[in-house]
Amino acid sequence: MKPSPDFSEIQFNLRNGSLTCVERVKYHLKNIEQKKTLNVFLSVYGDEALACAAEVDKKIKNGTAGRLAGMVIGLKDVLAHRHHPLQAGSRILGGFISQYNATAVQRLLDEDAIIIGRQNCDEFAMGSSNENSAFGPVLNDADHTRVPGGSSGGSAVAIMADMCQVSLGSDTGGSVRQPASFCGVAGLKPTYSRISRYGLIAYGSSFDCIGIFSKHLPDIALVLEVIAGADDFDSTVSQQPVPRYSELIQKNDSTKYKVAYVRDHLESPALQEEIRECMLKKIEALRRSGHTVSAIEFPLLEHVLPTYYILATAEASSNLSRFDGVRYGYRSKRTTDLLSMYKKSRAEAFGEEVQRRILLGTFVLSASYYDAYYTKAQKVRRLIREKTKAIFGEYDFMIMPAAPTTAFKLGELTDDPLQMYLADLFSVHANVAGIPGISVPCGNDRKGMPIGLQIIADDFKEAELLQFSEVFVRNVE
Ligand code: GLN
Repeated sequence: MKPSPDFSEIQFNLRNGSLTCVERVKYHLKNIEQKKTLNVFLSVYGDEALACAAEVDKKIKNGTAGRLAGMVIGLKDVLAHRHHPLQAGSRILGGFISQYNATAVQRLLDEDAIIIGRQNCDEFAMGSSNENSAFGPVLNDADHTRVPGGSSGGSAVAIMADMCQVSLGSDTGGSVRQPASFCGVAGLKPTYSRISRYGLIAYGSSFDCIGIFSKHLPDIALVLEVIAGADDFDSTVSQQPVPRYSELIQKNDSTKYKVAYVRDHLESPALQEEIRECMLKKIEALRRSGHTVSAIEFPLLEHVLPTYYILATAEASSNLSRFDGVRYGYRSKRTTDLLSMYKKSRAEAFGEEVQRRILLGTFVLSASYYDAYYTKAQKVRRLIREKTKAIFGEYDFMIMPAAPTTAFKLGELTDDPLQMYLADLFSVHANVAGIPGISVPCGNDRKGMPIGLQIIADDFKEAELLQFSEVFVRNVE
């Protein structure tokens, strides 16, 4: 099978007239149609994307096209796209139409990207397998009996199955990197605050990041460059200037890097043997190429996952209080008074996992437990961030698995929420510390399921992270 072209090749062909945007959109629409059973898209904007492509083709001809002219993009169902449905994979937002564009979406459109549809995901981005969507699970294209990971499962499979060139997802605790690893594609979560969250449906606001999926690292660099940066609509977004990521990522980098990995990660009994082997091989290959790779200790490891689940559920319980049957979407028909309307609307339209998270979050925020859980978790979060920053005082990058296992079977973990939470064992660290992380494909296990390894870096080191990812994926046996 011919490998799919990266965007610079597509643009080259668009400019020399051997390809049109309309052809590109048709190609992706055909793949979406042929693989409908994977349940990747909740809405496909076929006619609209074709009309937009025809416009962009004209702009390319007359030399007025933007930097993303001809890039076909899918959006996870948590990103506001003006005059299009937005549901966060939930029944509670049934019938809701967005009135405005998320800043990231607006910036894509301003550069002539073409949006092809809205992608399935776990309800309110809560999940690790895409089985919590009100629209049913997405299937992994490498094995239809397996999950694609979550919560941005649709966005990952869309890339895997060539249904678009780039997907935007969201990553609160791994929702871009973990599905990227399950689907054999690259997925970047940037530094917290690098990309405006305006128009991203909130889950855990102090963790939420828009993330980018593609088969090609330079595509991720270019999209990040377009969507990152200051925004009047999000007071928490960083004012740091946005580097020219797309120019900084080079194929022939001869820098010798200092890389660390956590010894306990490799010794974790939860880690699938083939992923351990893959990590060890990678470490050896990096060493042979002259990089320094050292085993380090990270004493707070066992606290990272509980810290995430306490704080993320606390924030979720507060964020989701706005869905009350009054202002948005679903309202129960069986109400008798105001209170019963709130209760019934929420009980009928939120799925089981979302209700569990709201209850957990409300519990850790309740007056008698606030200090024992919420305050304590905040303190631990700060320690985790400080210890992690100290590592980056000495090392350029940390490498680790993206997830403890490759894609598991549909239904395998649905009865055991704790086991499901363990799927985030390695991905939540970057979110708790607020730093950038990426999952890149590193071969397959014996069943043919993709393995993803993760690289994390210090705050705002996306350029370096993408550069090293190029080195990392090339550095194979
Ligand atoms: N799986 C994690 C959770 O359920 C992460 C989700 C995410 O990053 N949106 O919370």
